[in-house]
Amino acid sequence: MPAAPPANARAWAWPLAAALGLALVPALANVRGKPVAPARAVAPRPAPPPASAASAPVAAASATTTDLAQWCARLAPEIPGVDAPACRASGLVAGAGRSVRGVPLWSNDVVPASGAPRFKVLLLGGIHGDELASVTLAFDWIQRSHGVQAAAMPHASKATRPTIANVAWRFVPLLNPDGLLHSPSTRVNAHGVDLNRNFPTADWERDAQPYWIKRTKKDPRRFPGFKPVSEPESRWLLEQIDQFHPDLIVSVHAPYGLLDFDGPPPAPRRLGSLQLDPVGVYPGSLGNYGGLVKNVPVMTLELKNARAVPPAELAAMWNDLQRWLNEQMNNPGVQASAQRSPVPGTKVIGSTRGGD
Ligand SMILES: [Zn+2]
Repeated sequence: MPAAPPANARAWAWPLAAALGLALVPALANVRGKPVAPARAVAPRPAPPPASAASAPVAAASATTTDLAQWCARLAPEIPGVDAPACRASGLVAGAGRSVRGVPLWSNDVVPASGAPRFKVLLLGGIHGDELASVTLAFDWIQRSHGVQAAAMPHASKATRPTIANVAWRFVPLLNPDGLLHSPSTRVNAHGVDLNRNFPTADWERDAQPYWIKRTKKDPRRFPGFKPVSEPESRWLLEQIDQFHPDLIVSVHAPYGLLDFDGPPPAPRRLGSLQLDPVGVYPGSLGNYGGLVKNVPVMTLELKNARAVPPAELAAMWNDLQRWLNEQMNNPGVQASAQRSPVPGTKVIGSTRGGD
């Protein structure tokens, strides 16, 4: 018998801007130049049924804007440590992706100042809408990646060892805007689905619902959905993975204070103050999907506090990641994802301790 979905938050009005936004081209232009790869247009989906006017929150209209300044005016007050100018300087672009409530899934590519990238990193924040510090980290690291490219030597010789300046980034600071903008913020999306349990892992059909029912006792914060990739946010992310072909996915969460790693090794032993502590995978989790199905390593950062991350810690984690990326790029055996062999069965289903 299928499990009932958790009681959902009230529906928002379907915003007019969503219809306009669907027609926009997916723009992945980077502030420094060319995009890494053109994004494929996403076929428009039918609009959900309109909600009653009485249930519409006041803020819904501005959240669906595709204008960065307007979006930053709406978002920045919600995000610790991010102000509107810093948000605007991110260069985020509203492509074709939309949340359940029609909010653009903003992203930004930062590519090497010259030459082809030697390594590609997809960074995701705000998969869970109540983990605000993950969005803070994404904006901070966008700024740091801009600094790296601005400082990069434009005409490095071919003999130069690859460095962080050879890395192409795709930043997605907020995959679950509906959850974050809900008052109060929610882990799940507007359908009441935990996006980090909705990815099409090999064990989804068999395990996702039983795990939710038996292990989480039908925790509404961990509802995996009725089928894998049932949500527009998870569908869009899968498209990003298939288009961008990352060599590494960095998925940022909170507040368990650890570093997890799924997929082909080697894993870093620490990032800033976060120590490597593999917690296992869950049916439908991104670590399970990326690491075990797509064979792309997934580095999960569990920040210690969902509402704040100290600037010194942001810098320390960034610096440790730079070192790790340099090691990967200078070790030809580990840098090409196509050459990796899967490592299925090396992880067990995670306990409810410290996992996200
Ligand atoms: Zn999380």
